[in-house]
Amino acid sequence: MKLTEKQKDCFYCHFEQGELGLELTTHDGNKANLFKNPDGYYLGVWNTHHHKFIEEINIDYCPKCGRPLNEEEE
Ligand SMILES: [Zn+2]
Repeated sequence: MKLTEKQKDCFYCHFEQGELGLELTTHDGNKANLFKNPDGYYLGVWNTHHHKFIEEINIDYCPKCGRPLNEEEE
């Protein structure tokens, strides 16, 4: 797939494993981050008040630029 310039330069989905990408803060102060595992990309949600991990979901497309995250970049 051909990526647009916006997708190639997207700050939110270009990062290494161990780093965090896109970060969102929910209305009640919890945080969600895009992160990378060997088997793909995930959006993880943390309870920042109790420092606990709440849940994670597998993500196929960058929520910001729409880049397919599980395809090799050309
Ligand atoms: Zn992106």
